[in-house]
Amino acid sequence: MAMEKEPMRKKVCIIHTGGTIGMARTDYGYSPKNGFIQSALSKIEELSSSDMPEFDLIEYDPLLDSSDISVREWKKVGRDIEKRYEDYEGFLILHGTDTMAYTASALSFMFEELTKPIILTGSQIPLFEKRNDARDNLITGLMIAGNYSIPEVCLYFGNKLIRGNRATKVSSDDLIAFDSPNFPYLADAGVRIALNQKNIRKPGNGLRLTQFQEHQIAVLKIFPGIQFEVFENIMTTNLKGIVIEAFGAGNIPENHGALVRILEKAKENGTIIVVCTQCLKGSAILGEYEASRGLIKAGAISGYDMTVEAAVTKLYYLLSLGYDIDHIKKLMETNLRGELEKPTL
Ligand code: ASP
Repeated sequence: MAMEKEPMRKKVCIIHTGGTIGMARTDYGYSPKNGFIQSALSKIEELSSSDMPEFDLIEYDPLLDSSDISVREWKKVGRDIEKRYEDYEGFLILHGTDTMAYTASALSFMFEELTKPIILTGSQIPLFEKRNDARDNLITGLMIAGNYSIPEVCLYFGNKLIRGNRATKVSSDDLIAFDSPNFPYLADAGVRIALNQKNIRKPGNGLRLTQFQEHQIAVLKIFPGIQFEVFENIMTTNLKGIVIEAFGAGNIPENHGALVRILEKAKENGTIIVVCTQCLKGSAILGEYEASRGLIKAGAISGYDMTVEAAVTKLYYLLSLGYDIDHIKKLMETNLRGELEKPTL
């Protein structure tokens, strides 16, 4: 009698960058520990089950708290995925939660024409603690990366799969630490993993990677009583982009035109000014209120419903492509990877 062949297990590449998930307790608080994830994974029995994907683990050295992750590390992750892209069904990136939404956004712009999932996850409680969220985030993240056809950079956390450039960290201690305020979840992991198929992007054709460069970018959050003069000195020709977190639909205090004078200096310097809302949900639409007139005068553009994380990383991306200012401004207002939707007026 012919032996039934076991179906081939899918393969996932896990890239461990650091973060709480693999941290240990030290005299100075939690800190990442090399070798820890490898040994913890070898003890999780479920991972050797035939319906779980097989995996290879790449551990970075040093492992980082995600506060220290920026353009250099995004580039490294991008290169590591590109090199191994054909060898795996999907990628799972273990990452600290503090800046995970930035890395997810950056990778979503860095990669074009994706055909497989790149999923970031981590945890609020380290894997070594008896009660933790790490184990489920890891196991479910791995299952989704290996078994589902989701050609996007996503973030899996607290039972939700979120488009990477729509994610934002909303809690420093809840186990549901991330949300997607302006876009539906891509999947809910309840009793079953239910994909929200109509919101998942179509697979691409021929992966492309854009290498990011470092650029001077600033984020300025408006608050009542803000003394704009404080920020005058940062408006140099080196500043390539500034994201203004404005009130509501993109409004700023009049304050005798003080901000506008400063932003006009930014405009003369060739700095791209993008306006996002500081509300968790909704859009910044310049022109909706008179209180946004000064921003329009200074040549600012609407970030619509983009998260600040998406606006910042999109600036890095477009500046790295070396486009001229007008083209960058146009693309900042255009949906490139599902990161924004222009409201219909
Ligand atoms: N500070 C940690 C980090 O972002 C927090 C976490 O992982 O939850 O690396």
